[in-house]
Amino acid sequence: MNWPQVREDLALFGGYHSPQVEVKVRLNTNESPYPPPEEWLEDLRRESSGIQWNRYPDREGTQLIEAIASFHNVSKGNIIVANGSNEILQSLYLAYGGYSRSVGIFEPTYALHAHIARLTQTSVIIAERTPAFSVDHETADEVLAQTPNLVFLCSPNNPTGTVESRELVSYLLEECKKIGSLLVVDEAYCEFTDWSALELIGNESPIAISRTFSKTWSMASARLGYLIGPERVVDAMKRIVLPYHLDSYKQIAGRLALNHKEEMETRAKLLTSERERIAKALTALPIQQWQSGANFILFKPLQETGISGQKLWDQLLHESILIRNCSSWPRLKDCLRVTIGTPEENNMFLQALEGILE
Ligand code: PMP
Repeated sequence: MNWPQVREDLALFGGYHSPQVEVKVRLNTNESPYPPPEEWLEDLRRESSGIQWNRYPDREGTQLIEAIASFHNVSKGNIIVANGSNEILQSLYLAYGGYSRSVGIFEPTYALHAHIARLTQTSVIIAERTPAFSVDHETADEVLAQTPNLVFLCSPNNPTGTVESRELVSYLLEECKKIGSLLVVDEAYCEFTDWSALELIGNESPIAISRTFSKTWSMASARLGYLIGPERVVDAMKRIVLPYHLDSYKQIAGRLALNHKEEMETRAKLLTSERERIAKALTALPIQQWQSGANFILFKPLQETGISGQKLWDQLLHESILIRNCSSWPRLKDCLRVTIGTPEENNMFLQALEGILE
């Protein structure tokens, strides 16, 4: 039989996966350790009983978009929603990237930025972050000199936790204006830090930010994300999203979640203070860590321990603690990333780590 062949370029990369194994403590995918509030679930049960399942959902997601717009105090023409912020990123590439177009990416960063670029045949201009994992002006200038159609930032950056400064983002934005590039800031973790590029959004500014309900909002299972950006960017994305791409249930779930802002803020604060507690505990161990503005910390065992990142990860897994193994990723030799969990989970992680490194 002559079996149909997939695109040749797809053979070069294997997809994006994080292992899903049964463990006592799961700190590998940066989810919230807490379920959403009980009242949210009650509201959702009540409102979703009115869904007309035989009908297509509201194509625009009008009520959800209105709720998100009023939440951020922007106009509804500045918002588009999607099935997770990954889909937002993909839609941006479909609208602004593609064959004969390019994106500037500062590595190491969220692997999907380059992965989706390649899937959509967008050329990737890779720039290196400093050893502290920040983006410096010279490197930014080198990227901009190649006039990419898109420039991607991630703040706080996954997996390093680095928060980009207002000064750097504003600088990139001004340069993007000159060369006709769209600056995209992936803000999946912005609720765990004190600065967001939201203040730079405007109809005359080529900057868009992507947000998610998967982290602070405790709704990773729902797959809901959105973009805030200039109207013309939102309009461009509307041209490429599939019709009725956001189901009715999700539209209701997202809208109702926004009624629980205070509870979510309290949880974000709790996770932030747990992050600082873990960071402090790590300073007493033979470990190098990077300052994080997210709900995770990147770290690696010091050479003097004689333990590789892989071995440390294996030993933690042996204790039924699953964290993210970045040790074989380019630029991240021996690095591991731990998601901040509940205080109990964090204690178990720290105890196991101390036991291994003693
Ligand atoms: N951006 C970053 C930086 C992330 O870490 C993630 C989740 N791992 C996403 C986007 C995707 O999130 P979502 O669940 O909204 O697709």
